Amino acid sequence: MSDVPVIQLQDLYKRFSKKPDLAQRLLGLTGRPVENPTVHAVNGVDLTIRKGEVLGLVGESGCGKSTLGRILAGLIKPSQGQVMFDGRDAGTLRGKDQLDYTLGVQMIFQDPQASLNPKQKLHQILSEAMRVHKLAPRKEMADRVDQALLEVGLDPEYRNRLPHQISGGQRQRIGIARALMVQPRFLVCDEPVAALDVSIQAQVINLFMDLRDRHGFTYLFISHDLGVVRHISDRVAIMYLGKIVEIAPTSEVYGRAAHPYTQALLAEMPDVSRRGRKFIPIKGEIPSPLAPPPGCTFHPRCPHATDICRRQVPELRTIAPGHQAACHLLQQSDHNNDNGSI
Ligand code: SF4
Repeated sequence: MSDVPVIQLQDLYKRFSKKPDLAQRLLGLTGRPVENPTVHAVNGVDLTIRKGEVLGLVGESGCGKSTLGRILAGLIKPSQGQVMFDGRDAGTLRGKDQLDYTLGVQMIFQDPQASLNPKQKLHQILSEAMRVHKLAPRKEMADRVDQALLEVGLDPEYRNRLPHQISGGQRQRIGIARALMVQPRFLVCDEPVAALDVSIQAQVINLFMDLRDRHGFTYLFISHDLGVVRHISDRVAIMYLGKIVEIAPTSEVYGRAAHPYTQALLAEMPDVSRRGRKFIPIKGEIPSPLAPPPGCTFHPRCPHATDICRRQVPELRTIAPGHQAACHLLQQSDHNNDNGSI
């Protein structure tokens, strides 16, 4: 695996503010202060993804992981901070360089049905980006479509079908084939198996792994399910209310999770080897990103919270080689001396 990062995020923020409605604008004209609620979806993320690496990104709904994925895929712009793609600032790319980024980073969505035009035949869906960007001569298109169908395990005979004439798993394969058509280097997969039956999930995950072996792709694999990312990721990052709270090689996360939130997520994972043991849900709800709690944003739900947790934001610090966590109670020596549990 090369050390050159495909993706480097530097101090990345994304805020969504509601536009003032008419009443608020009128109030503003009178000189009174107008409240402008802001969602802090991504709140200071630094992240590096190396060539050929699969980084799993896990967190509950509303933690900002899909927003982060969309920023990486160039679908939305960050409010602050930089996205570096192959060492170049994606925000400053123009012309051919910008197209290289647009095509080089592809996104695969959770709901394949919604991401495919129901009126287009599969060969039209697959060749659209190539046609628009004139990436291949017209006479080569049919061959390229057939090749992409074969790559994702579908019979080229499917090329004339409509999306509703194939199954959910096959639709997700079409979503993957569409990304392959433009020869990407980095794939952002946003809950790509969450809408599929369990038996189909395993097949699609195996397909992702095969494609990585064949093409050397780099992935950001987003999921709310630690069980899903375990099988595909080299490293796993845990996100909570817009921040990465722990990141480590996969074996470290599953064997020596250090952050109380990661430990709580692991305790929630269904596991047949723990049959009969009590299921322990994480206490409370994820707080609103409109008004995140002060200090460590996990403190209202954390069984180990102390005074400092309510006042001071913990920094993401290295606690073991390749392993970082953001928690006031963690010291490097603590983690080296025991199994990482607080
Ligand atoms: Fe819990 Fe405090 Fe660590 Fe946050 S900083 S995870 S509240 S112990």
